[in-house]
Amino acid sequence: MLAASPARLPPNRKEQVMRDGILVINAGSSSIKFSLYLSNGDGKPSLQSKGQVEGINVAPHFIAQAADGAVLAEQHWPADSNLHHEDLLKHLIDWVEDNLDDARLVAAGHRVVHGGARYSQPVLVDELVLNGLEKLIPLAPLHQPHNIAPIRALAKVHPGLPQVACFDTAFHATNPKVATTFALPRELTDEGVRRYGFHGLSYEFIARRLGEIAPKIAAGKVVVCHLGSGASMCAIDNGRSVASTLGFTAVDGLPMGTRTGNLDPGVILYLLDEKGMNSKQIENLLYKQSGLLGVSGVSNDMRVLLESSDPHAAEAVDLFCYRIRRELGSLAAAMGGLDGVVFTAGIGERSAPVRRMVCDGAGWLGISLDGAANLANAQTITQADSGIPVFVIPTDEEMMIAKHTRNVFKQIRQAAQ
Ligand code: ADP
Repeated sequence: MLAASPARLPPNRKEQVMRDGILVINAGSSSIKFSLYLSNGDGKPSLQSKGQVEGINVAPHFIAQAADGAVLAEQHWPADSNLHHEDLLKHLIDWVEDNLDDARLVAAGHRVVHGGARYSQPVLVDELVLNGLEKLIPLAPLHQPHNIAPIRALAKVHPGLPQVACFDTAFHATNPKVATTFALPRELTDEGVRRYGFHGLSYEFIARRLGEIAPKIAAGKVVVCHLGSGASMCAIDNGRSVASTLGFTAVDGLPMGTRTGNLDPGVILYLLDEKGMNSKQIENLLYKQSGLLGVSGVSNDMRVLLESSDPHAAEAVDLFCYRIRRELGSLAAAMGGLDGVVFTAGIGERSAPVRRMVCDGAGWLGISLDGAANLANAQTITQADSGIPVFVIPTDEEMMIAKHTRNVFKQIRQAAQ
């Protein structure tokens, strides 16, 4: 007997042949990125399509691409279109739903920058959780509201869809107290004024990937340098985060594209008292006008700085690399040793000059760079006899969110059976 065509299958059998679609949302102030993963339940989620709406509140632009980068859809809106986050998210979700092929959307996973002291794991979102996450907005005013908004918007369009919040802070929950405590009066520490650390989804992905590439090194003491437009470094001992350069907010540690990184708090008092700046102006200065942009006066983009002949651009690059070298020593000291270093994110994965400037100054740690491998962005960029191997590993925060979301969804499904 011929098998019935899918169209004639009874609804329950038809559902069985459908794959699970997991939508990953990574929303910021001016863009909403999405990735759609397909999963057969137990297998690794595989990327089906990805895309983003960028230029929100300016001139929005939507693009969707297949996993291989082929453009599937694109749309531009004029600057006066008056489309807001929610309208554009709806456009994005409509596109995803129209392009699910043989899948059905079973869950959505969101990148949420701050989980506070409470969330050390991804969590299924309900009203109570959302209220808790909203209370953390003062700790991450530039990111948290934009991470939460799509959860609310998606709940309106899809009231029954399980949504999972995955936190950038969660991976650092294993930090010992000494690594998270500021030397402030205890009452402030007790109310949550402490170091949290960020970029945790990236570090978690790298820790797992390094375990596949170099299991012995991954079981030891590793410093991961996540160098994107936001930049930080993390000390990972046997797969667990023990210290990192980002702290209470995402402005500590390394200089970034437009953020200061570590700053003597006395500078803030000077800006308040002597320059008459208010807190909003200072926030703008620390987050938007500083870092590579502020020092160079040229750009926040490492590619532009490396190509520029302006001496201030070279100064900004030097400062960036100097601070990475210092933090490398500091994080190795926090672990009491160093077995490996990993570079990741936009600059870490693609900028051979930055990696060279960091590694050339780290010979005292036993790092001996292989120039040709570095230029080729090879997976291992040190010489065979280097005391410490250095790796270049592409990060994939979206894949990490998809895996977490799939796991939470599996638990819900099992509990319902
Ligand atoms: P985000 O933190 O926004 O996710 P990415 O990890 O994508 O950022 O990194 C973006 C940054 O990577 C850009 O600002 C740019 O400075 C840098 N970058 C990308 N490609 C290169 C390259 N080939 N050389 C140097 N820097 C690069």
